[in-house]
Amino acid sequence: MKKTKQVMPRVEQGPRPSLSFTERRHGKPPKHLADLSRSERRALVADLGYPQFRADQLSKHYFEHNCVDPEQMTDLPQAQRADLTRVMLPQLITKVRDQVADGGVTIKTLWKLFDGAVVESVLMKYPDRATLCISSQAGCGMACPFCATGQAGLTRNLSAGEIVEQLRQARQLAEEGIFGEPVRVTNVVFMGMGEPLANFPAVRDALHRMIEPAPEGFGMSARNITVSTVGMVPVIKKLADEGLPVTLAVSLHAPDDGLRDDLIPINSRYKVGELLDTARYYFVRTGRRVSIEYALIKDMNDHQWRAELLAAELNSRGRGWAHVNPIPLNPTPGSIWTASTTADTGVFVQTLTDAGISTTIRDTRGSDIDGACGQLAADVVDRDHVSRRAARAQAAVDARIEAHRGEPKDFDSTLAAIAAVTNGDIDE
Ligand code: SF4
Repeated sequence: MKKTKQVMPRVEQGPRPSLSFTERRHGKPPKHLADLSRSERRALVADLGYPQFRADQLSKHYFEHNCVDPEQMTDLPQAQRADLTRVMLPQLITKVRDQVADGGVTIKTLWKLFDGAVVESVLMKYPDRATLCISSQAGCGMACPFCATGQAGLTRNLSAGEIVEQLRQARQLAEEGIFGEPVRVTNVVFMGMGEPLANFPAVRDALHRMIEPAPEGFGMSARNITVSTVGMVPVIKKLADEGLPVTLAVSLHAPDDGLRDDLIPINSRYKVGELLDTARYYFVRTGRRVSIEYALIKDMNDHQWRAELLAAELNSRGRGWAHVNPIPLNPTPGSIWTASTTADTGVFVQTLTDAGISTTIRDTRGSDIDGACGQLAADVVDRDHVSRRAARAQAAVDARIEAHRGEPKDFDSTLAAIAAVTNGDIDE
């Protein structure tokens, strides 16, 4: 049996969520056209005894027309259609339900996978585009204490086909007029359930399918695709070297290791400095400005001195390579995590802007349907398991996090507090 790899946080003082990279379920979904490169598809079709170009015809139906219905594939011989679609286009995800919010421009969909695992995606219409927020794992092993998905742990990685199918179905719905008129899905963000870079092989293959033109893939613009990470440093490097200039979003949420160790458990392995160095490497390698995501949590990470520290950390690595997105927090039901006040948010943003950091408060679409990653699924799957584990984890984290709440609000008081315990023996 595979041993679960665990990383215990530096500030460990009791039970708390621990990182997990091992899947609880090992069943593999059926192979699908979207799991395969063009040459692999052609080889598979040849193995079935059909001409290789049938693979390209099938791929065009899938990627150009979002079509999986053999009846509509009239350029394929009738006798081959059923066999080709059965082998190449097995049904990977089944809709459980939609939730509509924001006056009809946000649709959150819960999907059931072949083994009963559930994931979600959120389709958002804007005046000039539609964006799909997509899941890359069922559950998540990153254990972020403010996140319902993280409290339930990792069920399993999605296959590339399961990731791509969320997009194909969203494209089909949007183009067929679910928003009242045909809309193209131009943007994808990997900000649904899961840490995408903990499932790198499938996410990398899915990115190729999204970016490469038909018959290889959908032919979307790489710059319209955002991959978010809590800080899988070595995999950020791999992604940078992959030659896919997608946008990287780093969920930072704290500029200091003391707090980030508690907010983002992977920080126990990859510290803020190393993470920002790697994010900067990503910018240099791809030319894509990195997004720094910062969920503003009341009296916890929204202090002005943290905005100053964040600006200093970013500016010390050069100008213009990163853009900060403060996010008004969408709290987990029943948790202690609450959004910053408007006044504190304003000061935080102004402090960053004054330091020359480009900053935009992020849209919080779907907040009335628990729009933060994984909350809908956590609500449906195994509620008892989630709440038992959440309660234990939350109690331990809450106890430690109180210390952060008590921290002084301004940088001078922080220096004075440090000076008090070090007898003034610090460098200013
Ligand atoms: S916030 Fe994202 S990375 Fe953290 S536990 Fe939730 S899904 Fe995973």
